[in-house]
Amino acid sequence: MAPHVDPVRSDEALPARADVVIIGGGIIGVSAALFLAEKGVSTVLCEKGHIAGEQSSRNWGWCRKMGRDPRELALIIESLRLWQGINERVEAETGFRQPGIMYLAETPAELGELETWLEHARQYQLDTRLVSRAEALALMPGLTGNWVGGLFTASDGKAEPQRAAPAIAEAARRKGAAILTQCAVRGIETAAGRVSAVLTEKGRIACAGVVVAGGAWSRLFCGNLGIELPQLKVLASVMRTEPLSGGPEISASGGLFGIRKRMDGGYTVATLGVRTIDLVPDNFRLFFPYLPAARLHWKKLRFRIGRRWVEEWRMPRRWGLDQTTPFEVVRVLDPEPDPYVLDRARTAVGEAFPLFRNVAVAERWGGMIDVMPDAIPVISPVDSLPGLYIATGFSGHGFGIGPGAGKLVVDMVTGAPTLVDPTPFRLSRFTDGSGPRPHPLAS
Ligand SMILES: Cc1cc2nc3c(=O)[nH]c(=O)nc-3n(C[C@H](O)[C@H](O)[C@H](O)COP(=O)(O)OP(=O)(O)OC[C@H]3O[C@@H](n4cnc5c(N)ncnc54)[C@H](O)[C@@H]3O)c2cc1C
Repeated sequence: MAPHVDPVRSDEALPARADVVIIGGGIIGVSAALFLAEKGVSTVLCEKGHIAGEQSSRNWGWCRKMGRDPRELALIIESLRLWQGINERVEAETGFRQPGIMYLAETPAELGELETWLEHARQYQLDTRLVSRAEALALMPGLTGNWVGGLFTASDGKAEPQRAAPAIAEAARRKGAAILTQCAVRGIETAAGRVSAVLTEKGRIACAGVVVAGGAWSRLFCGNLGIELPQLKVLASVMRTEPLSGGPEISASGGLFGIRKRMDGGYTVATLGVRTIDLVPDNFRLFFPYLPAARLHWKKLRFRIGRRWVEEWRMPRRWGLDQTTPFEVVRVLDPEPDPYVLDRARTAVGEAFPLFRNVAVAERWGGMIDVMPDAIPVISPVDSLPGLYIATGFSGHGFGIGPGAGKLVVDMVTGAPTLVDPTPFRLSRFTDGSGPRPHPLAS
């Protein structure tokens, strides 16, 4: 079941031209549209389904620095600065607050692993610190169990995924961007070796710049352009409870559960502990690039084979711009949640917080996370096609970093000094022999 998302209406007319076209109306695409519009750059955002229909409305809503891959730290720090002003900027409620995030440890060895990350926190002067069992219990009302302590970042935040990207999209429109939904982009036209237009299902938009912010569809889109993007999909499952009083304000994860208090008074509940992989042909095509990540997370992975194999096997990987594309066939990627994963998360949260045992689950949903072999995104120009930029592959942590990533890609498109050093996010890392690797401590 798809979670409810604040609706964003579509502009009616397809502009004949724009400076920049953004493909995808998730948190990355709408943030880029906002910052482009604020700079007075004429911008059209095309979304095949509805705004935030995929990952950006289905995530946990954590905006965290803690536990990040060090290569992302500078960008998440800037992103949180942008989140802090976002409600005023978009004149709407995105739900952004900073109640803090806690990672609980069940054993001294686990606490030791968490402690290793503190070295990165120190380098960036973050307020992340180890807390004792007693302090964890004091910070999190209702917590029981044998936790030995935790890692806590008081300034880490949260926002409402079902409200944030729609609010940003509406603000982008007020500042001059055109927002088109039910408008799949089929491909790109070039002239003199650079981007000259996008072809949508509704017609052509002449443009000098294109940002691919297509989430889990980016590999397919780029593949048709002859650009290899080694991206895969991982199923994550989530539920939300009915309102529950007396529980923690702080977002937390430990063992097999993760929770965040929502503005509606309920909790978003899920787990970092199990990830479902529905095998598809791409898992075999990309077997070697993903081997290091698979080795690192082996115990957390749950492989299945079924309908999705057939669906992806049948999906065309090449098409002409006058043909119906897979983006028009699947308007919203709405996978079934994995009941095995959710049942385990439910049991685990009830053990940690007895308060949760009797609360009703109001909704369950699945979301397809777009991952990269090194679990950090691509935010990069495409050297082989001037005018084309990619911002995708956020590997399960793109919501919090979304505004920062949107700003970074806009800096690239407009030739402004970049918000942070973009080198770690370059597309060419997969081909220049630098051997991208997942960071062993990052989550
Ligand atoms: C269950 C779950 C939990 C998560 N928890 C967190 C969290 O707590 N914190 C965090 O920071 N991150 C989290 N994430 C990750 C985060 O949600 C994503 O990294 C982020 O939302 C990615 O945003 P996006 O804009 O790149 O992609 P998406 O939100 O997936 O948007 C891409 C959009 O592009 C559109 N599109 C694709 N191709 C085309 C085309 N050809 N034409 C037109 N439109 C197209 C799609 O329809 C889609 O709407 C989680 C993800 C999931 C699934």
